Amino acid sequence: MDLLLVFALAPPHIPIGPLALFLVATCVAPMTVDDSVIACEIQCPVCGAETVHQEVAPAWGEFRSCTSCTLEFAHPLQRGQDPRALFEDAYRGRVSTNAMDDFRRRVDQRRVILDQLGEPQLWFWTPAFGQVLSWLKRHYPPGSTVLEIGCGLGFFLHALRQEDFEAVGLDVAETVVDINRKDGFHVWHGPVESLPDGWVQPDVVVAFFMLHHLEDPLSFLRTIRRRAPGAGLALAVYGPTNKGEDASFPPRTLIRWNATALATALRRAGYEPEVHDLASTGAESGPVRWARVTLGRTAGVPWLYRLGKRVERVVLQRLPADARQESYVVLALAQPRAEPEGNS
Ligand SMILES: [Zn+2]
Repeated sequence: MDLLLVFALAPPHIPIGPLALFLVATCVAPMTVDDSVIACEIQCPVCGAETVHQEVAPAWGEFRSCTSCTLEFAHPLQRGQDPRALFEDAYRGRVSTNAMDDFRRRVDQRRVILDQLGEPQLWFWTPAFGQVLSWLKRHYPPGSTVLEIGCGLGFFLHALRQEDFEAVGLDVAETVVDINRKDGFHVWHGPVESLPDGWVQPDVVVAFFMLHHLEDPLSFLRTIRRRAPGAGLALAVYGPTNKGEDASFPPRTLIRWNATALATALRRAGYEPEVHDLASTGAESGPVRWARVTLGRTAGVPWLYRLGKRVERVVLQRLPADARQESYVVLALAQPRAEPEGNS
Protein backbone atom coordinates (compact mmCIF):
# COMPACT_ATOMS: atom_id res chain seq x y z
CA MET A 1 0.00 0.00 0.00
CA ASP A 2 1.56 3.30 -0.96
CA LEU A 3 1.29 6.72 0.69
CA LEU A 4 -1.47 7.92 -1.65
CA LEU A 5 -3.65 5.01 -0.61
CA VAL A 6 -2.92 5.70 3.07
CA PHE A 7 -4.23 9.24 2.59
CA ALA A 8 -7.29 7.99 0.72
CA LEU A 9 -8.13 5.59 3.55
CA ALA A 10 -7.52 8.10 6.37
CA PRO A 11 -10.55 8.52 8.67
CA PRO A 12 -12.51 11.69 7.83
CA HIS A 13 -11.76 13.38 11.18
CA ILE A 14 -8.00 13.29 10.51
CA PRO A 15 -6.98 16.20 8.27
CA ILE A 16 -4.80 15.00 5.41
CA GLY A 17 -2.32 17.90 5.79
CA PRO A 18 -1.00 16.97 9.27
CA LEU A 19 -1.07 13.27 8.38
CA ALA A 20 1.04 13.95 5.31
CA LEU A 21 3.41 16.12 7.35
CA PHE A 22 3.72 13.45 10.01
CA LEU A 23 4.43 10.66 7.54
CA VAL A 24 6.76 12.64 5.34
CA ALA A 25 8.61 14.22 8.27
CA THR A 26 9.11 10.87 9.97
CA CYS A 27 9.70 8.45 7.17
CA VAL A 28 11.55 8.40 3.94
CA ALA A 29 9.11 8.12 1.03
CA PRO A 30 8.39 6.07 -0.99
CA MET A 31 7.50 3.28 1.41
CA THR A 32 4.81 0.85 2.34
CA VAL A 33 2.74 0.96 5.53
CA ASP A 34 4.65 -2.09 6.83
CA ASP A 35 7.89 -0.23 6.20
CA SER A 36 6.53 2.83 7.97
CA VAL A 37 5.71 0.83 11.11
CA ILE A 38 9.34 -0.25 11.29
CA ALA A 39 10.91 3.05 10.19
CA CYS A 40 8.62 5.20 12.35
CA GLU A 41 9.26 3.58 15.74
CA ILE A 42 9.54 6.70 17.78
CA GLN A 43 11.13 6.46 21.18
CA CYS A 44 10.30 8.53 24.24
CA PRO A 45 12.73 11.49 24.45
CA VAL A 46 12.92 11.05 28.23
CA CYS A 47 13.14 7.29 28.90
CA GLY A 48 13.63 5.77 25.45
CA ALA A 49 10.61 3.44 25.73
CA GLU A 50 8.07 2.73 22.98
CA THR A 51 5.42 5.31 22.25
CA VAL A 52 1.93 5.28 20.75
CA HIS A 53 -0.13 7.78 18.76
CA GLN A 54 -2.26 9.93 21.03
CA GLU A 55 -3.88 12.67 18.95
CA VAL A 56 -3.38 14.75 15.84
CA ALA A 57 -1.51 18.02 16.33
CA PRO A 58 -3.03 20.28 13.65
CA ALA A 59 -0.64 21.69 11.07
CA TRP A 60 2.18 19.82 12.76
CA GLY A 61 1.88 16.04 13.02
CA GLU A 62 0.77 14.27 16.15
CA PHE A 63 1.14 13.92 19.90
CA ARG A 64 2.57 10.62 21.10
CA SER A 65 2.44 9.08 24.53
CA CYS A 66 5.18 7.02 26.20
CA THR A 67 4.11 3.51 27.26
CA SER A 68 6.51 3.62 30.21
CA CYS A 69 6.93 7.10 31.75
CA THR A 70 3.65 8.44 30.22
CA LEU A 71 5.28 11.58 28.79
CA GLU A 72 3.28 13.14 25.94
CA PHE A 73 5.27 14.82 23.20
CA ALA A 74 4.78 16.37 19.79
CA HIS A 75 6.08 14.53 16.79
CA PRO A 76 8.11 15.80 15.02
CA LEU A 77 9.85 17.12 18.09
CA GLN A 78 11.72 19.87 16.29
CA ARG A 79 10.44 23.40 16.11
CA GLY A 80 12.55 24.27 13.09
CA GLN A 81 12.88 27.80 14.43
CA ASP A 82 15.38 29.40 16.79
CA PRO A 83 13.63 29.86 20.17
CA ARG A 84 15.28 33.29 20.41
CA ALA A 85 13.27 34.44 17.37
CA LEU A 86 9.99 32.76 18.34
CA PHE A 87 9.81 34.12 21.88
CA GLU A 88 11.15 37.55 20.96
CA ASP A 89 8.34 37.80 18.39
CA ALA A 90 5.84 36.67 21.04
CA TYR A 91 6.85 39.37 23.56
CA ARG A 92 6.74 41.98 20.80
CA GLY A 93 3.20 40.97 19.85
CA ARG A 94 4.16 39.66 16.40
CA VAL A 95 2.64 36.21 16.99
CA SER A 96 -0.99 35.74 17.92
CA THR A 97 -1.53 32.11 16.89
CA ASN A 98 -1.13 29.33 19.44
CA ALA A 99 -2.45 31.80 22.09
CA MET A 100 1.00 33.42 22.06
CA ASP A 101 -0.49 36.89 22.43
CA ASP A 102 -0.33 36.04 26.18
CA PHE A 103 3.31 37.03 26.14
CA ARG A 104 2.60 40.59 24.96
CA ARG A 105 -0.20 41.03 27.50
CA ARG A 106 2.14 40.06 30.32
CA VAL A 107 4.39 43.00 29.46
CA ASP A 108 1.51 45.33 30.50
CA GLN A 109 0.80 43.29 33.63
CA ARG A 110 4.46 43.53 34.54
CA ARG A 111 4.36 47.32 34.34
CA VAL A 112 1.61 47.43 36.98
CA ILE A 113 2.79 44.58 39.23
CA LEU A 114 6.49 45.49 39.33
CA ASP A 115 6.98 49.10 38.20
CA GLN A 116 3.90 50.63 39.83
CA LEU A 117 3.11 48.35 42.77
CA GLY A 118 6.43 46.59 43.47
CA GLU A 119 4.60 43.41 44.55
CA PRO A 120 5.92 40.53 42.45
CA GLN A 121 3.83 38.02 44.40
CA LEU A 122 0.66 39.46 42.83
CA TRP A 123 1.79 37.49 39.76
CA PHE A 124 1.82 34.14 41.58
CA TRP A 125 -1.13 32.41 39.89
CA THR A 126 -0.28 29.00 41.39
CA PRO A 127 0.94 28.02 44.87
CA ALA A 128 4.04 26.57 43.16
CA PHE A 129 5.81 29.96 43.21
CA GLY A 130 5.28 30.41 46.97
CA GLN A 131 6.27 26.79 47.67
CA VAL A 132 9.54 27.22 45.79
CA LEU A 133 10.30 30.42 47.73
CA SER A 134 9.62 28.61 51.03
CA TRP A 135 11.81 25.68 49.96
CA LEU A 136 14.63 28.07 49.05
CA LYS A 137 14.38 29.86 52.39
CA ARG A 138 14.45 26.52 54.27
CA HIS A 139 17.49 25.13 52.43
CA TYR A 140 19.62 28.10 51.33
CA PRO A 141 20.88 31.03 53.43
CA PRO A 142 20.30 34.68 52.41
CA GLY A 143 22.77 35.76 49.74
CA SER A 144 22.71 32.38 47.98
CA THR A 145 22.80 32.62 44.19
CA VAL A 146 19.59 31.46 42.51
CA LEU A 147 19.67 31.10 38.72
CA GLU A 148 16.25 31.29 37.09
CA ILE A 149 16.20 29.69 33.63
CA GLY A 150 13.47 31.21 31.48
CA CYS A 151 13.15 34.22 33.79
CA GLY A 152 10.68 35.96 31.46
CA LEU A 153 9.55 39.35 32.70
CA GLY A 154 11.32 38.98 36.05
CA PHE A 155 8.45 38.45 38.50
CA PHE A 156 10.30 35.69 40.33
CA LEU A 157 13.68 37.47 40.12
CA HIS A 158 12.12 40.40 42.00
CA ALA A 159 10.55 38.06 44.57
CA LEU A 160 13.97 36.46 45.12
CA ARG A 161 15.59 39.87 45.57
CA GLN A 162 12.97 40.80 48.16
CA GLU A 163 13.94 37.64 50.07
CA ASP A 164 17.65 38.64 49.96
CA PHE A 165 18.75 36.03 47.45
CA GLU A 166 21.23 36.87 44.70
CA ALA A 167 18.90 36.46 41.71
CA VAL A 168 20.43 35.75 38.30
CA GLY A 169 18.41 35.11 35.13
CA LEU A 170 18.56 33.54 31.70
CA ASP A 171 16.10 33.90 28.85
CA VAL A 172 16.00 33.42 25.08
CA ALA A 173 13.96 36.58 24.39
CA GLU A 174 16.05 39.75 24.09
CA THR A 175 13.20 42.05 25.14
CA VAL A 176 12.88 40.50 28.58
CA VAL A 177 16.63 40.20 29.02
CA ASP A 178 16.88 43.98 28.47
CA ILE A 179 14.02 44.71 30.88
CA ASN A 180 15.62 42.63 33.64
CA ARG A 181 19.07 44.09 33.06
CA LYS A 182 17.58 47.59 33.45
CA ASP A 183 16.28 46.40 36.82
CA GLY A 184 19.86 45.57 37.80
CA PHE A 185 19.79 41.79 37.35
CA HIS A 186 22.64 39.80 35.85
CA VAL A 187 20.88 38.06 32.92
CA TRP A 188 22.20 35.82 30.15
CA HIS A 189 20.62 36.01 26.70
CA GLY A 190 20.35 32.57 25.05
CA PRO A 191 19.55 28.95 25.80
CA VAL A 192 21.22 27.23 28.73
CA GLU A 193 23.62 25.39 26.40
CA SER A 194 25.08 28.78 25.36
CA LEU A 195 25.95 29.82 28.92
CA PRO A 196 29.74 30.34 29.13
CA ASP A 197 31.57 28.28 31.75
CA GLY A 198 31.99 30.27 34.94
CA TRP A 199 29.47 32.98 33.99
CA VAL A 200 27.45 32.07 37.07
CA GLN A 201 27.97 29.56 39.88
CA PRO A 202 24.47 29.02 41.22
CA ASP A 203 23.70 27.41 44.57
CA VAL A 204 20.32 26.48 43.17
CA VAL A 205 18.53 26.60 39.82
CA VAL A 206 14.81 27.24 39.28
CA ALA A 207 12.66 27.13 36.13
CA PHE A 208 8.92 27.83 35.88
CA PHE A 209 6.67 26.76 33.03
CA MET A 210 9.29 26.50 30.31
CA LEU A 211 9.99 22.76 30.07
CA HIS A 212 7.05 22.28 27.68
CA HIS A 213 8.91 24.40 25.10
CA LEU A 214 11.96 22.13 24.86
CA GLU A 215 12.94 19.84 22.01
CA ASP A 216 15.30 17.77 24.18
CA PRO A 217 14.36 18.08 27.86
CA LEU A 218 16.75 15.35 29.02
CA SER A 219 19.71 17.09 27.43
CA PHE A 220 18.52 20.37 29.02
CA LEU A 221 18.43 18.82 32.51
CA ARG A 222 21.77 17.07 32.02
CA THR A 223 23.33 20.36 30.92
CA ILE A 224 22.16 22.00 34.16
CA ARG A 225 23.46 19.02 36.16
CA ARG A 226 26.87 19.32 34.45
CA ARG A 227 27.15 23.13 34.60
CA ALA A 228 25.92 23.44 38.20
CA PRO A 229 26.89 20.05 39.65
CA GLY A 230 26.15 20.76 43.30
CA ALA A 231 23.07 22.92 42.82
CA GLY A 232 19.53 21.99 43.83
CA LEU A 233 16.82 22.32 41.24
CA ALA A 234 13.17 23.43 41.46
CA LEU A 235 10.96 22.98 38.42
CA ALA A 236 7.28 23.76 37.90
CA VAL A 237 5.43 22.60 34.79
CA TYR A 238 1.83 22.65 33.54
CA GLY A 239 0.07 19.51 34.72
CA PRO A 240 -2.29 17.17 32.81
CA THR A 241 -5.46 19.14 33.65
CA ASN A 242 -3.94 22.47 32.61
CA LYS A 243 -4.48 22.18 28.89
CA GLY A 244 -5.31 25.15 26.67
CA GLU A 245 -7.24 24.71 23.44
CA ASP A 246 -4.50 26.41 21.40
CA ALA A 247 -1.64 26.84 23.84
CA SER A 248 -1.08 23.13 24.45
CA PHE A 249 -0.07 22.42 20.85
CA PRO A 250 3.13 23.09 18.86
CA PRO A 251 5.06 25.20 18.29
CA ARG A 252 4.32 26.66 21.77
CA THR A 253 3.94 23.31 23.52
CA LEU A 254 6.17 20.45 22.41
CA ILE A 255 5.86 18.39 25.58
CA ARG A 256 3.00 17.77 28.04
CA TRP A 257 4.29 16.79 31.44
CA ASN A 258 2.93 14.87 34.38
CA ALA A 259 4.43 13.85 37.74
CA THR A 260 5.69 10.43 36.58
CA ALA A 261 7.37 11.78 33.45
CA LEU A 262 8.98 14.69 35.30
CA ALA A 263 10.33 12.42 38.06
CA THR A 264 11.71 10.05 35.40
CA ALA A 265 13.44 12.88 33.53
CA LEU A 266 15.02 14.23 36.72
CA ARG A 267 16.28 10.82 37.85
CA ARG A 268 17.79 10.12 34.45
CA ALA A 269 19.55 13.50 34.57
CA GLY A 270 21.12 12.67 37.95
CA TYR A 271 18.71 14.22 40.46
CA GLU A 272 16.71 12.83 43.35
CA PRO A 273 13.36 14.61 43.08
CA GLU A 274 10.34 15.09 45.34
CA VAL A 275 7.45 15.61 42.96
CA HIS A 276 4.12 17.18 43.94
CA ASP A 277 0.88 17.42 42.03
CA LEU A 278 -0.68 20.80 42.85
CA ALA A 279 -4.36 21.61 42.38
CA SER A 280 -5.49 24.77 40.64
CA THR A 281 -6.67 27.74 42.69
CA GLY A 282 -10.15 27.67 41.09
CA ALA A 283 -9.52 31.03 39.34
CA GLU A 284 -9.43 29.38 35.93
CA SER A 285 -13.14 28.59 35.64
CA GLY A 286 -16.66 29.70 36.60
CA PRO A 287 -17.51 33.11 38.06
CA VAL A 288 -14.02 33.57 39.49
CA ARG A 289 -12.61 33.36 35.98
CA TRP A 290 -15.06 36.05 34.82
CA ALA A 291 -14.04 38.27 37.78
CA ARG A 292 -10.39 37.66 36.99
CA VAL A 293 -10.76 38.71 33.36
CA THR A 294 -12.65 41.83 34.46
CA LEU A 295 -9.96 42.54 37.02
CA GLY A 296 -7.31 42.39 34.29
CA ARG A 297 -8.93 45.46 32.74
CA THR A 298 -8.26 47.50 35.89
CA ALA A 299 -4.53 47.40 35.20
CA GLY A 300 -4.65 51.12 34.36
CA VAL A 301 -5.62 51.86 37.99
CA PRO A 302 -2.93 50.12 40.02
CA TRP A 303 -4.51 50.45 43.49
CA LEU A 304 -7.75 48.96 42.17
CA TYR A 305 -5.80 46.15 40.51
CA ARG A 306 -4.05 45.36 43.79
CA LEU A 307 -7.32 45.47 45.74
CA GLY A 308 -8.94 43.13 43.23
CA LYS A 309 -6.05 40.69 43.47
CA ARG A 310 -6.28 40.65 47.25
CA VAL A 311 -10.03 40.09 47.17
CA GLU A 312 -9.51 37.32 44.63
CA ARG A 313 -7.05 35.62 46.96
CA VAL A 314 -9.53 35.69 49.86
CA VAL A 315 -12.35 34.38 47.64
CA LEU A 316 -10.16 31.57 46.30
CA GLN A 317 -9.27 30.40 49.82
CA ARG A 318 -12.99 29.92 50.51
CA LEU A 319 -13.85 27.99 47.37
CA PRO A 320 -15.01 24.38 47.88
CA ALA A 321 -12.39 21.76 47.03
CA ASP A 322 -14.33 20.53 43.98
CA ALA A 323 -13.90 23.96 42.32
CA ARG A 324 -10.21 23.11 41.92
CA GLN A 325 -8.61 20.87 39.34
CA GLU A 326 -6.15 18.26 40.53
CA SER A 327 -2.72 18.02 38.85
CA TYR A 328 -2.99 21.52 37.42
CA VAL A 329 0.68 22.13 38.12
CA VAL A 330 3.48 19.66 38.82
CA LEU A 331 6.27 20.86 41.09
CA ALA A 332 9.60 19.08 41.49
CA LEU A 333 12.12 19.93 44.20
CA ALA A 334 15.32 18.08 43.51
CA GLN A 335 18.87 17.62 44.75
CA PRO A 336 21.75 16.23 42.69
CA ARG A 337 22.63 12.60 43.30
CA ALA A 338 26.24 11.63 43.88
CA GLU A 339 26.24 9.68 40.58
CA PRO A 340 25.41 12.20 37.83
CA GLU A 341 24.37 9.78 35.07
CA GLY A 342 21.50 7.72 36.47
CA ASN A 343 19.62 5.24 34.34
CA SER A 344 16.49 4.75 36.37
ZN1 LIG B 1 9.08 7.71 28.56
